[in-house]
Amino acid sequence: DVSLYDFLFAGLADDELGRPAVYDSLSGTETTYGDLRARIDAFAGALAARGVQPGDVVALHCPNTTAFVIAFHGILRAGATATTINSLYTAPEIANQLRDSGAIRYVTVSPLLPGALAGCAEVGIEADKVTVLDGAEGHESLMDLLSEGHAAPDVTIDPATHLAVLPYSSGTTGKAKGVMLTHRNLVANVLQSMSAIAEQPDDVVLAVLPFFHIYGMNVIMSVTLRVRAKLVTMPRFDLDEFLRLIHEQRISFLYIAPPMAVALAKHPAVDAIDTSSVRAVLSGAAPLDEALGEAVKARLGCGMLQGYGMTELSPVSHALPLDRGDLSIGSVGLAVANVEFKVMDTGTGEEIVAVPGGRTAPGELWIKGPGVMVGYLGNEEATNETIDADGYLHTGDIVEVGPEGEVYVVDRLKELIKYKGYQVPPAELEAVLLTHPAIADAAVVPHPDEDAGEVPHAFVVLQPGASLTAEEVMAFTAEKVAPHKKVRVVDFIPVIPKSASGKILRKDLKGKTAADFA
Ligand code: ATP
Ligand code: MG
Repeated sequence: DVSLYDFLFAGLADDELGRPAVYDSLSGTETTYGDLRARIDAFAGALAARGVQPGDVVALHCPNTTAFVIAFHGILRAGATATTINSLYTAPEIANQLRDSGAIRYVTVSPLLPGALAGCAEVGIEADKVTVLDGAEGHESLMDLLSEGHAAPDVTIDPATHLAVLPYSSGTTGKAKGVMLTHRNLVANVLQSMSAIAEQPDDVVLAVLPFFHIYGMNVIMSVTLRVRAKLVTMPRFDLDEFLRLIHEQRISFLYIAPPMAVALAKHPAVDAIDTSSVRAVLSGAAPLDEALGEAVKARLGCGMLQGYGMTELSPVSHALPLDRGDLSIGSVGLAVANVEFKVMDTGTGEEIVAVPGGRTAPGELWIKGPGVMVGYLGNEEATNETIDADGYLHTGDIVEVGPEGEVYVVDRLKELIKYKGYQVPPAELEAVLLTHPAIADAAVVPHPDEDAGEVPHAFVVLQPGASLTAEEVMAFTAEKVAPHKKVRVVDFIPVIPKSASGKILRKDLKGKTAADFA
């Protein structure tokens, strides 16, 4: 039982100090493990010198850079709790999170400063409590803090109860919720993921998923730094830059979300670069269809893994390890160590039992294990609705279980389309649509219908130069799925709205037509 800092950095051996830890693609600078730890200590010391106490909450609002990694671990090292803020948030959204989390200090960068200051002003965080990592008139910078050369403060952290981070859920299905995670939650998650996510010390890992969200955060508090591999930070996803970095930095391990899998499988630009260094791609955060996973594997000539997680699970509960190529890449794999799970019939409330040699019927996934959150901040009601008396967290995701215990995510319970008496998972239709060569991207939502209740409504993005009619789209899916799942309304739009963590924002599509996106 140790703090996250002790787990990742206390045991650095002498010959590891000079190893590269983080390459910052924005500034083109590389930081060794020894320097990274020294800066984390100095940052923690500077916070303590400014009165930050164990248990205080510090907000961190910054794109993926080495400075983020230093500030993040520095906040935790000082015994404080980091609440990470979505880079796309507006001032009122920032103010909401600050109010909700009770943050007392703010760490950001100059391009985000106007919104940050407006948000801080709303909740009474004074300008002198706002650190601007890259520097801005009237604010302390990272260099200012580090140059004071403080030692790390002497704080006592009880890993079992001390809150390390307070990330917010993605807000895909409703309002984003503050999730309380302890040091023990996070350390357990690294230990649990390590055998499945077998990164090696010589791996070079591209960190493109946003650090403010639990999936990207997992990349900087997890296996990579523990095994002393190298991280390459990328501030925001841009396909050309992404491909350039894979090529130039000889990336060997890629953490992605399904929209990037779509690009890797379908975009012509991929053929122009050398991807031979990539040995593994891990997809998470949203459903990945088997055909799409196979297409990425074949095109890059690499191994492919899938992971399943939630902010509330710190985040990983299931992973499909590289050495289980016998299992479908459409599966999120097996429960990681110390995770117990069961699948519950949402109609009868009974547990669904395994079918020898086959797949179970679909049901809701319930998870128990050391990664399960303490609860939602300031929301006991939501906590009690989510974690039951036996300690199982009800994920809200519908899954099926295969013969080896591998889990297939069907879709979210809340997203299922209710056509007459049937439940239609939009993710399945999206996967079918993506197999069409003229379709670059797609999303499916319910459309109200007098007879059926709801019918599937597809939003389709065409490949550049391609043309397709709504009738052709409907005929294409009708050939491939059971009649009750047929797409019955089609709109062509320029781009599918997605969250920064790579999830389709179906709530932004419901009730809309192509005209809303013109
Ligand atoms: P909110 O809870 O605020 O509505 P959210 O559930 O999207 O937002 P996250 O914690 O970021 O917030 O995401 C967890 C969800 O992501 C899971 O419940 C699941 O629906 C989805 N998910 C994660 N990994 C996978 C995966 N490999 N396959 C399918 N879905 C996944
Ligand atoms: Mg959720």
